[in-house]
Amino acid sequence: MDTTCLRKPDGMQLIRHNMINGLFKKGIPSGAVLDVMSAVPRHLFVSDAFRYRAYDDISLPIGFGQTISKPSVIARMVQALSLTGVERVMEIGTGSGYQTAILSAVSGTVVSFERIESLYHRARTVLSGMGFCSNVTFIHSGDFRDIDGLFDAIIVAAGADILPVELLSRLGPNGRLVIPVSDGEGHRIKKYLKRQDGTVMEEEIGEAVFVPLVLN
Ligand code: SAH
Repeated sequence: MDTTCLRKPDGMQLIRHNMINGLFKKGIPSGAVLDVMSAVPRHLFVSDAFRYRAYDDISLPIGFGQTISKPSVIARMVQALSLTGVERVMEIGTGSGYQTAILSAVSGTVVSFERIESLYHRARTVLSGMGFCSNVTFIHSGDFRDIDGLFDAIIVAAGADILPVELLSRLGPNGRLVIPVSDGEGHRIKKYLKRQDGTVMEEEIGEAVFVPLVLN
């Protein structure tokens, strides 16, 4: 895991530090994910109009009817993947690229899908402008079947009506899938662990409201 490229001083360290303290007080355990979040400049992933709220624990619009999720939700979801810096990760819903930046710093490689072309281009530009994420492959597609192979971890940043079971077949042994699934009103964030013997364990790790996962 190389986070040196994230450590550029940008005058926002103190306000990010306060955000991390707030997340810690909300019961999010410290560790690699919060450490990385203390360095990622969230204000650069939203438009100027929302920058003053970039370090509040709220979701914010990113255009095209989409949102960047709350920092606490992103922290919980990424932590649930138990990444150690070597995993192959699939992200569905690049959005602003904020979560992609975090994933890139705590895993081996990331394949990130975004169905909205403008968001796909913008996230790539923002992340390359920051000089990191060489371990990320961005894909403009709404269909995760466009990439083959198994993944150690899959994270879905948009809310599914029902669990797309095909995602489970893309997990390798001990693979983890984190995905919000509709409960009729909002979404329950589910974690699925595929054991060595192929059986799957399900756990609920939180709830939130997400923009919809659009499947073809
Ligand atoms: N975590 C993101 C939030 C993205 S919002 C961030 O940090 O900004 C969810 C994104 O999922 C939206 O950009 C939406 O266009 C995208 N999306 C929805 N369904 C998708 C699909 N099937 N494949 C790829 N992207 C999808």
